[in-house]
Amino acid sequence: MDDCLFCRIANGAIPVELLHNDELVAAFRDINPQAPTHILIVPKAHIADVTQVGTNDGQLLARIMQVAAELAQREGIAATGFRLVANTGPNAGQTVPHLHFHLIGGRVLGWPPG
Ligand code: 5GP
Ligand code: ZN
Repeated sequence: MDDCLFCRIANGAIPVELLHNDELVAAFRDINPQAPTHILIVPKAHIADVTQVGTNDGQLLARIMQVAAELAQREGIAATGFRLVANTGPNAGQTVPHLHFHLIGGRVLGWPPG
């Protein structure tokens, strides 16, 4: 997907600091952070959103969870807590149509979200 922002970032066409990079998953800091730690974790393959995850994507999803936990450790927020969020569709405010998980932490997070 040449015209997809997160495809381009995850596959190196747009240079950003990748906090994690393997054959399935990339992670990088959100350009507009909502908390001291705000990292986006994305599949390298183009999947538009949660509704497009397939029955063969189990390994990918497990990897995303592992990467989230590893990054939380590295950021020093594993013990204090964090949130992992995949906004999906207009009511959730999804703005980039490439599956991504926000890893957010480093402050107390309100619940329920607005
Ligand atoms: P969504 O609103 O779709 O759940 O999340 C999209 C996120 O991508 C937003 O938090 C936004 O700040 C972030 N974002 C949008 N464009 C860029 C970009 O070019 N680089 C980075 N690092 N983050 C971006
Ligand atoms: Zn994409």
